[in-house]
Amino acid sequence: MFKVRGIAASRGIAIGKAFYIGKEELTIPKRKIRHEDISREIYRLEEALIDTRKEISTLQKKISDEMGYNHARIFEAHMLVLEDRMLIEDVITQIKNKKVNVEYAFSQSVKKYIDTLRKLDDEYLKERALDIEDVSKRVLRKLLKKEVPSLERLKEKVIIVAHDLSPTDTASLPKGKILGFVTDIGGRTSHTAIIGRSLGIPAVVGAEIASSHIQGGEILIVDGFEGLVYIKPTEKIIKDYQKKMEKIERFSRVSYFPKLAKAETKDGRRIIISANVELPEELPLVETYGAEGIGLYRTEYIFLGRTQLPSEEEQYRAYFNVARKIKPHSVIIRTIDIGGDKFLSKPTVPREMTPFLGWRAIRFCLANPGIFKVQLRAILRSSCEGNVKIMFPMISGIEELREAKKILEECKKELKRENKKFDENISVGAMIEVPSAALVADILAKECDFFSIGTNDLIQYSLAVDRADEKVAYLYEPSHPAVLKLIKIVVEAAHKNKIWVGMCGEMAGEFLFAVLLVGFGLDELSMPPPRIPQVKEIIRSFSFQEAKKIADDVLNFSTSRDVEKFLQERVKSVLKENYYKFLK
Ligand code: PEP
Ligand code: MG
Repeated sequence: MFKVRGIAASRGIAIGKAFYIGKEELTIPKRKIRHEDISREIYRLEEALIDTRKEISTLQKKISDEMGYNHARIFEAHMLVLEDRMLIEDVITQIKNKKVNVEYAFSQSVKKYIDTLRKLDDEYLKERALDIEDVSKRVLRKLLKKEVPSLERLKEKVIIVAHDLSPTDTASLPKGKILGFVTDIGGRTSHTAIIGRSLGIPAVVGAEIASSHIQGGEILIVDGFEGLVYIKPTEKIIKDYQKKMEKIERFSRVSYFPKLAKAETKDGRRIIISANVELPEELPLVETYGAEGIGLYRTEYIFLGRTQLPSEEEQYRAYFNVARKIKPHSVIIRTIDIGGDKFLSKPTVPREMTPFLGWRAIRFCLANPGIFKVQLRAILRSSCEGNVKIMFPMISGIEELREAKKILEECKKELKRENKKFDENISVGAMIEVPSAALVADILAKECDFFSIGTNDLIQYSLAVDRADEKVAYLYEPSHPAVLKLIKIVVEAAHKNKIWVGMCGEMAGEFLFAVLLVGFGLDELSMPPPRIPQVKEIIRSFSFQEAKKIADDVLNFSTSRDVEKFLQERVKSVLKENYYKFLK
């Protein structure tokens, strides 16, 4: 048995077989062939191409059924490679002229192609090199008769193990097949971890060496509470964990926490509890866990993992469906937050040294008004179907907010001219996730309808801790006094200017902080749906007066450890013997 410690990214326990997703090296043999073998090698090439085409179209259909057609479009580029006459002719010429085996000829032709494309200045063609690389591996695997274990074909559910999983990778995994996941890198608020939490899949990230100790097939235990991964655990540990799982199952059943109960303090202060949503699979959870609408709809997931940007019509349909489903509650549609750890395939953005500080979110949108306007028009049009609000991410000062609003006004004018309907009084909010925005919240509040505090970024920017870097994860502290002071400033600025203020960072879903956030005066908390019942229960256990006193007291502490200890004591003293059900 071997135990690895990482970062607890998504609560829960998973016991099951490991499925390793790694970088695959294929060894290509070089053989001289006889003249009479040439036609056999060409036949093998054709056979491999046909089989690969079949494989891709099956995959394309499956992804299209599960996640929608647009997620499956990436395979169109792969099909084009398989039909590329120039490439195929080149392979055949090599087999004939050089008298070499098909695997070798194919790998050489592909290499030539990729090298040429990579040297070009055209970003689109450079990107096609990746498609060619990807699809050529499939063909080579067929020729070498090396089938990769495919998740699609697995009969049992597995625990995914990888050095890294990008948000795009995570979004496209077949969710029904996954018990949990473990990655070597990443932090608690990296977007991969966020998806795990939203879907309620136990996860440990930043487990540094985990993937180098796991081949795939061995039994693992993922403890998403403690951030532990057991590799080939003993029978005793498996039994202990099975018992824990039974206990968790009993306590975390949605029915245990009355889902329809409102989040209201004992003395009657109402807090709106809403859900964060990334993927279509999460939509049913909004209702299941009793959310009052969607406080953060991360629209960038519609844009990821595809070769073409989604059209206005396609986006309109996506937003319209969500708005209709959530009605009469509201959905806050956040305009795309591209950059940081989420990148588009097209347009390709040059890799930056510090992407979280670079060309991200509203900065990217303001620099690409064409892309921005298509999204704004789609959101506006969807607003006649339900209660839709617009929110801009990563605002750092008033000029950015004004510029974004100006473009929004242009879109409204265009739609009016075209006689297209929309809610003319649509609410417009700013995410407060950059420390400068928090400090000038009084200025911003005069020019928008609401704030939502994005603590995931606010913490990383105010404490200078990359949220996706496991090495500095110990410094990533939501209860750091500096973070708490910024939250307080934002809430006060909002209320002074008579606008409401919510929080949609992961901190909003941590039950320990719920009473503190209510005490600070937040009007709304938006979180991964599985977190909702517990947060509601905490809010219902305190009075607003008590919460305010807690918030005042907490501001006197100098370390986050003191803050958390104090909160734990207060929450424990109110929940008494019920406290432990919140932990496991
Ligand atoms: C945040 O920064 O807190 C937030 C909600 O946005 P994201 O996690 O998508 O950056
Ligand atoms: Mg953010």
